[in-house]
Amino acid sequence: LAKDRGKSATAVYEPRLHEESLRRLQLRADLQKAVRRDELVLHFQPTVDLNTRQVVGFEALVRWQHPEQGLLGPVLFIPIAEESGLIVPLGSWVLRNACVAAASMQSDAHTPTMSVNVSSQQLDQSGFVEEVTRVLAETGLPPHRLCLEITESVVLNDLDRVRAVLSQLRALGIRIAIDDFGTGYSSLAYLSNLPVDVLKVDKSFVDRIVSDEQSGSLTRAIIAMSGAMKLATVAEGVEHDDQASWLELAACSYGQGYLWSKPVPYERATELLAELSVSRIRPGRSDVAGR
Ligand code: C2E
Ligand code: MG
Ligand code: MG
Ligand code: MG
Repeated sequence: LAKDRGKSATAVYEPRLHEESLRRLQLRADLQKAVRRDELVLHFQPTVDLNTRQVVGFEALVRWQHPEQGLLGPVLFIPIAEESGLIVPLGSWVLRNACVAAASMQSDAHTPTMSVNVSSQQLDQSGFVEEVTRVLAETGLPPHRLCLEITESVVLNDLDRVRAVLSQLRALGIRIAIDDFGTGYSSLAYLSNLPVDVLKVDKSFVDRIVSDEQSGSLTRAIIAMSGAMKLATVAEGVEHDDQASWLELAACSYGQGYLWSKPVPYERATELLAELSVSRIRPGRSDVAGR
């Protein structure tokens, strides 16, 4: 039976796979020109203080305004950028533009932080620390307002080298976050050995905190240990108010999710920042294709 199914599956999926790889090749060719042609766009998703429900920062999330296919989400092109090495110039573009945006969001009343996702290939570049230093100097963004997000798998790849680079970045005064915590194989023990400031609990945990007792206990333990290591904890993908209340009770400091806002263009982000109480913000759905 398994053999039969395997055969028919091959017959059904082969043409689709072919189509899929053609599509990827085309996207890769297009992506090569996207940075030059100024087709990349940053959207910003607020991070909210769970006690005050006010916006304390934003995460810059890249989108691609594709000439034929519309606004594409990063899940559709970041993997292509990574396998082709294009992630390095793309990541540089994101870093610079996120810092420019953050610097201009500065006012007397608000100094939001800006989080930028960094891929392992960027960290591996020998001049990465110099690049960050230069971008901060040229945009005038104070280092403490920049946070770089890296995923656990990046950390585990090459622990010693990553630790060295992170230490240099942190010496500049910028913050480091571990993104999507809980999806990889790392343990909290690793973290205690790393120069890290923020831990972002993955959405897959947050999804089930209210409904599933085990996910709840696990998340409570992560938040408690994160706090014991003096890290700030951010819960990702908060969609419902009961999750926000649960997290607040569990002493999680910050949240991010559609409950408050989807990622939005710069103009809208500055409006969100200006509103005193973000609890008045209407929940929003996804802004892009690809999710
Ligand atoms: P991430 O860094 O974990 O970002 C969070 C993702 O979850 C974003 O998806 C965000 O829109 C989505 N999200 C936030 N709140 C909710 C929610 O309440 N419900 C649901 N269903 N989703 C929510 P997005 O923008 O599609 O980005 C996906 C991933 O692509 C990011 O995950 C990040 O790993 C990567 N990425 C995005 N921008 C960049 C970039 O500039 N450089 C690199 N290297 N990776 C990036
Ligand atoms: Mg992130
Ligand atoms: Mg994340
Ligand atoms: Mg995530």
